[in-house]
Order: sequence, then structure tokens, then C-alpha cells
Amino acid sequence: MKQLVVMKFGGTSVGSAERIKDVAAIVHEASEKYRVAVVVSAMSGVTDMLVRAAESAESKNKAAYQRAIEEIRSKHHEAIEALGLSLDESQALISTIEQQLVDLSDWLEGVYMLRELTPKARDLITSFGERLSIHLVAAALKNTNTFSKAVSAASCIVTDESFGDAQPNLAASKTHSEAILRPLIEEGIVPVITGFLGATPKGIISTLGRGGSDYSATIVGYCLDADEVWIWTDVTGVMTADPRIIPGARTIDALSYDEAAELSYFGAKVLHPLTMVPAALKHIPIVIKNTMDSAAPGTRITKKVAIDPRGVKAITSMKGLSLITVQGRVMTGVPGFAARVFGALAAAKISVMFISQASSQYNISLVVRHADGSRANQALRETFQHELTVHNIEMVKLQEELAIIAVVGEGMHGHPGVADNTFSSLGAGDINIIAIAQGSSERNISLVIHETDVPKAVQHIHDVFKLERSTV
Ligand code: ADP
Ligand code: ASP
Ligand code: MG
Repeated sequence: MKQLVVMKFGGTSVGSAERIKDVAAIVHEASEKYRVAVVVSAMSGVTDMLVRAAESAESKNKAAYQRAIEEIRSKHHEAIEALGLSLDESQALISTIEQQLVDLSDWLEGVYMLRELTPKARDLITSFGERLSIHLVAAALKNTNTFSKAVSAASCIVTDESFGDAQPNLAASKTHSEAILRPLIEEGIVPVITGFLGATPKGIISTLGRGGSDYSATIVGYCLDADEVWIWTDVTGVMTADPRIIPGARTIDALSYDEAAELSYFGAKVLHPLTMVPAALKHIPIVIKNTMDSAAPGTRITKKVAIDPRGVKAITSMKGLSLITVQGRVMTGVPGFAARVFGALAAAKISVMFISQASSQYNISLVVRHADGSRANQALRETFQHELTVHNIEMVKLQEELAIIAVVGEGMHGHPGVADNTFSSLGAGDINIIAIAQGSSERNISLVIHETDVPKAVQHIHDVFKLERSTV
């Protein structure tokens, strides 16, 4: 039997009629060799438009959200016109899109009337991008004589109710996917499935978080026991650094699931951080490929890969962060202090992205997103109000406009030169390191620096490890 490959196409890859035709050609060619299931994102920019429309409706700006609907309508109409379909097919497609837009408009009207945008309503509204794009991709595929069917993941991916950041129930999703997707595939029909969304057991639409279509692809891969998951995007694979920051960044041939997870967690936007989880559970290789350079081999992500002798494979950066430092003598040897710090933040529903504690235990530093900074500061001040009054805690300090840089590679384990080289390269560039942490996995070293230092810092570290070269 032919191997089963799940192929996911991101927003840029389905961003125009031209791109969609390329996608159809890629899938058509692959379908001659493999059994294929396709997962697609919204056309590029559409999810952002939907977020803005939802927020405009909530703030009673009817003109703004209506403009957004118009923009979305013309983007899809323009693409449909340029897809080169027959008149009947074009008309059928336009009427499908119009039905969806009426539905979207009703939901926005509801938010407008209530003046309230609940997480549930936000997910429902933002899910429309993928619910529209699947129809264009399915039609383009039919045009290449490939049987295809647009499928909403609401019928096959079951999630919990954490709207905006929903997590799949893999067992239930497998049951539904086997029932809905398997028969299509066995009949030679390529299902074109919405990325990004699923539905709760009650059938309410949920989303997996921004950039979540990558995650959808491996969830579908898990559910169908796929042989491989291919993630098609606008770069030739996972690179040694963000190519927008380092033009000389190089595509990495092979990464482990753990390395890829670490890179995406610390800001490599090319993959949603949870993408590796379902694939790792079943050892399904993930391949990252470029829609505009389909012959390039891309990056292969598997359980075990050869260690790079440099100890480092890539550097990532994440901006828009705040650092909170709690400092004072009460911490010295007092059990339960850290628990109170984390308890206070957990109660305020703030997630901590980075922790660093000096060995003297004189201070503890935490990084949170900028949007959570003031609330985190407030929560800690309230928790330690007494200690601050009696000066057992000297200060709770908030620093903003910071970034985390992460240096990642399995080979770092037992490779003391990595830390040395990283720090000395930053020193040579006169870049001030505000805090340091090393993951216990010894797969990354992360540093907090000023946001404005990011390009220079990434370039210096990239240079010191000679990452632009494929071998050393
Ligand atoms: P898609 O729409 O296909 O999901 P994304 O925009 O989400 O694509 O992710 C691809 C982008 O990720 C690239 O265009 C690139 O700018 C960015 N990126 C950031 N860091 C990296 C990295 N280390 N390797 C590759 N791409 C990266
Ligand atoms: N369309 C969604 C987003 O823009 C999901 C994705 O593209 O992966 O976040
Ligand atoms: Mg993406």
C-alpha cells in the first residue's frame, strides 16, 4: 500500500491564486505516489483581519468590522477569479464563500450587540479564515483532476474547552478521524482539512492558538497513523536563525523533536511549539519544505539525529518580554519561597517563560510576556506585602522591552565551550546580559538581553559558532 503523508500548507503558501495553483500541483504530483491528506491555513493576513474585526465589533465600531468583511470577501473573490475554474465551479465556490461570510457577519453582529468578545466567540470568528481557504484549495485540486473534499476539522479534531489555546483529545480525535477522513483517503479522495481549529465534545469550535495549523497537521498525522507529516512553508526549512534577522542563516538538514520543540518554544515562528508532541508519540517524521522551492530537501525532524560537533544548531530570539526580579535576604534558605512566587503568578494566570535564580538565592528572576508584566509585578507585591514592609524583601523590580535569546543544540551536553563561546561573543559585541538560564535538559542556554540588542547578539553568536557553514 502507498505511504500516507499529511501535507500542511501555511498562510503564504495559500495566499493568492498563483500560490494555490502551486499547492494544487504539489499535491497532485504527490498523490500519484502517496496517499495524501492536506491541512491548510487561512490565506495570509486573514486571521489577523478576523482578530481585528472581532475587536472592532466589541468596541462598537461597526464600520471597521464591516470593512474587514469586505476585505476578506474581495481577497477570496479575487483568488477565485484567478484560479482558472469553469464558470459553474467558480459560481459554486463563490456561493459557498458567501454563505460563510453571512455566518461570519452574524457572529460579528452578535459581538457588536453584546459588546462582549468571549474567548469562545473569538475562536469562532477567527476560525473563519481556514473555513474559507479549504474550499479554494479543494477546488484548485479538482481542477488538476485530483479528487478532493473540503473538511472542517470541527468534525474530526476533538479538543478541551480552553478556547484560544485548546488542546486535543487524541483518542477521541482518532476515532472521529478514522470515521470521517479514512474512508475518503481509501477512496482516493484528498481531504482538504482546516488547520488551526477543532471542536469541543459539545461541538463548539475552538482554536489551537496562533500558528496552530502546524499542530493540526501532526494531530491529523497521529490520528491517521501517517508515515510522514510535511509542513510546506515559505522558507526552505528550519534555519540556523530567523532569516529576517540573519540573511546568511542556513537550512538545517536534521533536528530532533526535542531540538525543534525548544527552538519553536523560544521564538522560531516556523513551527508551532506543540507540533512535535503528537508526531513524537508515534515517531512520525516531520519534514519542513518550501512551496516555492519544492525540490529542496528541507529539514527532517525525527527522534534521534547526529550531534553537531559545534554543540549548537540554531539561535532564536523572542521580543516583547518583561523581567521581574524579587530580591532580598528572606529568600536565603527559606523553603517555600519559590512556591509562593509561582503560586502568586499561577493565581493571576500568568505563564512564566524563563526562571533564573542566583546560587546565593539572593534573588529570583522571571520572564513574562510584556502584556503580563504589570499584573505579575502587582501580584508579587501583594503576595510579599508584609516582607516588603519589614524589608525582608528589598525589592520587586520590573524591567521592560527585553528579549530572550536561546542557543539550542543536543550537542551542548557535556560541551563546556558552548557557554564560554556564547558569553565571550556577546562580551566582544558589548552586549549586556541581564539574566542567564540553562535548561536542565542541557539542550539550550537562554539569555535575557535588551530588545534593541537582538540583531547584533544573534549575529555574534551565529558567527562564533560558524553556523553559516554546513560542517566545521
Ligand atoms: P506559515 O504561514 O507557512 O505557517 P510562518 O510565517 O508561520 O509560516 O513561519 C515561517 C516564517 O518563520 C519564516 O518566513 C521566517 O521568517 C520565520 N522564522 C523565524 N525563525 C525561523 C527559523 N529559525 N527558521 C526558519 N524560519 C524562521
Ligand atoms: N491562521 C492561523 C494563524 O494565522 C493558524 C496558522 O496559520 O497556523 O494564526
Ligand atoms: Mg505558521
